[in-house]
Amino acid sequence: MAFSIFGGIHPKENKHYAENSPVQVFPEPDILVVPMVQHIGAPCQPCVKKGDRVLVGQMLGDNQGLCVPVHSPVSGTVKAVEPRPHTSGTMVMCVVIENDHQGEQSPDIKPRTREAVDALTPEELMAIIRQCGVVGMGGATFPTHVKLSSGLGKVDTIIMNVSECEPYITADDRLCQEHPEQVLSGLGIVMKILGLETAHIGIEDNKPDAIAALQKYLPQGVRLDILPARYPQGAEKQLIQAITGRQVPSGGLPAAVGCAVFNAATCKAIHDAVYAGMPLVRRIVTVSGDIVMQPKNLLVPIGTCFNDLLEAVGTRENPYKVLSGGPMMGVAQYDLAVPVIKGCNAVTILGKSNKYVVDTARCIRCGRCIDVCPMHLTPVLMYKSMYTGDAEEMKALDMLDCIECGSCAYVCPAGVPLVLGFRAGKQQIRDAQNKAKK
Ligand code: SF4
Ligand code: SF4
Repeated sequence: MAFSIFGGIHPKENKHYAENSPVQVFPEPDILVVPMVQHIGAPCQPCVKKGDRVLVGQMLGDNQGLCVPVHSPVSGTVKAVEPRPHTSGTMVMCVVIENDHQGEQSPDIKPRTREAVDALTPEELMAIIRQCGVVGMGGATFPTHVKLSSGLGKVDTIIMNVSECEPYITADDRLCQEHPEQVLSGLGIVMKILGLETAHIGIEDNKPDAIAALQKYLPQGVRLDILPARYPQGAEKQLIQAITGRQVPSGGLPAAVGCAVFNAATCKAIHDAVYAGMPLVRRIVTVSGDIVMQPKNLLVPIGTCFNDLLEAVGTRENPYKVLSGGPMMGVAQYDLAVPVIKGCNAVTILGKSNKYVVDTARCIRCGRCIDVCPMHLTPVLMYKSMYTGDAEEMKALDMLDCIECGSCAYVCPAGVPLVLGFRAGKQQIRDAQNKAKK
């Protein structure tokens, strides 16, 4: 039984652009830029230097604490270790690799047989998942081994997320259609680690081919929950509510209600890490948009620059906006030299017809933003408090619970830039908290 989520919207899906495009292997670029920041937590410290030869799957950087290592997607020579533009809009330390196109693998990559995998303990599996740099690939980029270890003994419900509710994006849909066995195998490893014999797969009803593919290989104990499509149902807290009816408390994590959610691509990465011994060095990226000539789902080496992807699909006009991610939650990019990172499931390229400029955005107090907010927030009041810079009020209005889904901005008839305001407001709250700590 599916529970309904609060709020939400039905934006134009626009999935038809890429949903019938099978995943193509993107030709490896000559130069790759691999950032040391691809996850939530401490940035990696590079462990290679200019002039070093690196191999496929070789570690390029790691760190202590909340961190996972990053690895080389190709073999070649390190040309530089220096700050480069990043999809977050900042400059980030990167390892720049000149690809020798030999594809020589690191000797550390050792595949395991099913018997060898069966003999591994949950602790050994989590160590492998960390060592292979696996993070949440739906965009959150939280280190997966930490999510697993912190869920031990607390989680009674595992959910694999194939909701993929953002317009245009079809990467997980294609992944489940083309590799259902590996995705489900990764889910099985998660179940073994957390000691549970059951799991749910949350998938929206607009993905019939993926549903059929998963159904064919569905193991015992795993249930497909087919949900009516609605945005932002793929957000972690909303998916938990849709499947279990449980509500994650304000400021809380899914484990607080006994749940752990893993994206389908993360499950595939877990399978690859455990069975093939292969670190997370490539991912499927949907490159789509209303002005794209050949929308595609591409298997892309991490570190491939957006410019290369735009060239591969072609555009009918100069892009008005290029986003890392989809049009609702994606981040607009001002420098297309930024590389694909582990959490980048899409590059969305939009034309000038998407330009929506309001000279003076004035709230008309219609209340629509409140009706659609899936987090039960009051966007109109939050925006006002952000404008006055009152961090205490912003906090009191639970602005930190905002998942930046963009539903409020989507329905706002006055064109108030709500999400931009909330991103800035959340930063103001954190700055005020840090100041108070000092
Ligand atoms: S306030 Fe945040 S969570 Fe609520 S609709 Fe707006 S962006 Fe989404
Ligand atoms: S939807 Fe826009 S105009 Fe309406 S109350 Fe919210 S911010 Fe104001």
